[in-house]
Amino acid sequence: MDHKNLRYWSGEAAKWAEEYHANLRDRPVRPLTTPGDTVAKLPAIAPEAAEDMAQIFDDFKAIVPGAMTHWQHPRFFAYFPANASPASMLAEQLANAISAQAMLWQTAPAANEMEEVMVRWLRDALGLANHFTGTIHDSATTATLSAILTMRERALDYKGLSAGLSGQPRLRLYASAQNHSSVDKGARLAGIGQDNLVKIATDANHGMDPAALDAAIKADIAAGYKPAGVILCVGGTSIGACDPIAACLKIAKAHDLYTHVDAAWAGSAMICSEFRGLWHGVDGADSVVFNPHKWLGVQFDCAVQFLADPTAQINTLGLRPEYLKTQGADEINNYNEWTVPLGRRFRALKIWFTLRAYGLSGLRTRIRNHVAWSAQVAEAIAVLPDFHLITAPVLSLFTFQYAPAGQDANTATANLLEQINNDGRIYLTQTVHDGKFVIRVQVGQFDCTEADVMMIPAVLNELTKSD
Ligand SMILES: *Cc1c(COP(=O)(O)O)cnc(C)c1O
Repeated sequence: MDHKNLRYWSGEAAKWAEEYHANLRDRPVRPLTTPGDTVAKLPAIAPEAAEDMAQIFDDFKAIVPGAMTHWQHPRFFAYFPANASPASMLAEQLANAISAQAMLWQTAPAANEMEEVMVRWLRDALGLANHFTGTIHDSATTATLSAILTMRERALDYKGLSAGLSGQPRLRLYASAQNHSSVDKGARLAGIGQDNLVKIATDANHGMDPAALDAAIKADIAAGYKPAGVILCVGGTSIGACDPIAACLKIAKAHDLYTHVDAAWAGSAMICSEFRGLWHGVDGADSVVFNPHKWLGVQFDCAVQFLADPTAQINTLGLRPEYLKTQGADEINNYNEWTVPLGRRFRALKIWFTLRAYGLSGLRTRIRNHVAWSAQVAEAIAVLPDFHLITAPVLSLFTFQYAPAGQDANTATANLLEQINNDGRIYLTQTVHDGKFVIRVQVGQFDCTEADVMMIPAVLNELTKSD
């Protein structure tokens, strides 16, 4: 395989991709495969001799697609979306062709400068204040870890970096239980510890109670702990919970705490001004993350972190040994100093392609449709016999239970979920809310239509009618 052959096989791959996407609706969203199926199809050891690309390509077709869950399937309503617009796929193909390592300005000048501009484009598109700069990570998990490490070091006067954590004050972080598990992971990995992540009580709307936050911080200070930061969520993964951002930031600021807002999924919706009430006050945050790779259509992986002032994070994560210095260029951003890994992919290109190929207005139309269709489908489910909405739509996410007379609702709902996903026409996943096993519905796939979405109540009705 050389570059000449690459041209031919790229063409074959593009043809295959077109057909794959054209026929995706005919495939079950979740594959009919069991653990070990793929292992059984792969040789136990790597080949000694070079193999023919035609054979490799055939094996790909025979083994892989049938054992994949199809995230780009228009009836994927599980988890959150991981949308890949065709324009972002094309950008990835071009980034692959160049395959640069964008760790420093001078290792990838256009990538570096495009990253700066794309962060600005997105900041303005989301309606964030123009003091924010930022960077692109692989995932929201990494961005949140970066923010938590920054909280730690800011609270320790940057002494943890050199002296380690032993003998330092015991730090505390604050978040509600509606936050994503990446916050727990961040607390663990940053050496702060799960036990020092205080879960603040939520109000009737499942948002953090600011008075409880204030009380927890004061109690910790009185007990000799050192509060370090507050992590807030907008559109929590379970049911879409949103903390009251302005009120919580006010408490955090009063205690001089660093603040991070996780809007990994819901952030994309903020390109529509009518949804910005969900994160009212966000301009006061130190750090905000959202994933263009979820709802905006920018192919995985792409997480954008906005920073009110990058200095504290650069002081925490940046390290500039002699061999990474760029002579005579102090004014440039070397984004590896803003993020955890040194090596970085050229992720800005797919943002550029996506925003230009669909325009903000095209992307807004998609998100508005998803939100409207989600409300429609929630209403349709609510009137089906024995179905109950448990949480109302937040943007395009809601949950429901199936509770036929004489059956345990949690068990009946779990059994129904298994039936739905074995049926394969739609794909849904579960969460536990207030002790109830519930099915989540999120509408957000890039190519889904109203008919795709209305297939949800149709399938539910069909599967439960014969009971
Ligand atoms: C998806 C999600 C995450 C995790 O995102 P990754 O990019 O997969 O790390 C974190 N928080 C929220 C609210 C999410 O929706």
